[in-house]
Amino acid sequence: MSSIFKKIIDKEIPADIVYEDEHCMAFKDIQPRKKVHLLVIPKKEILSLADLTPEDQALMGHVMMKVTEVAESAGLKNSGYRVITNIGQHGGQEVPHLHFHILGGEPVGPIVY
Ligand code: AMP
Repeated sequence: MSSIFKKIIDKEIPADIVYEDEHCMAFKDIQPRKKVHLLVIPKKEILSLADLTPEDQALMGHVMMKVTEVAESAGLKNSGYRVITNIGQHGGQEVPHLHFHILGGEPVGPIVY
């Protein structure tokens, strides 16, 4: 079953998109936890980081480069930021489509283990 992010990719539901190309998309998190909270996703339906296959290698190289570019475009380069991806139930993943959170614009605090 398709996730909510697939509906955003297909433009079936709106999102505040800050970057898009053939392979990936970045948009504002609907419930921002920090002043800047963006999500970067591959357009390919991949469940999580744990579900990559060797054929995803080039795609993921592209996506990771875009994570940095999107963060820089949001003005986070000098101040720094945090990139998070949650995997599965214990990882706190709510949306079953691989995504990278970019958090910044203010100190994000220590990682809570
Ligand atoms: P995770 O817990 O890592 O799966 O994170 C999912 C994130 O997606 C949460 O931070 C949500 O606030 C965000 N989210 C859920 N639905 C939407 C939506 N329609 N547009 C933007 N962000 C969303």
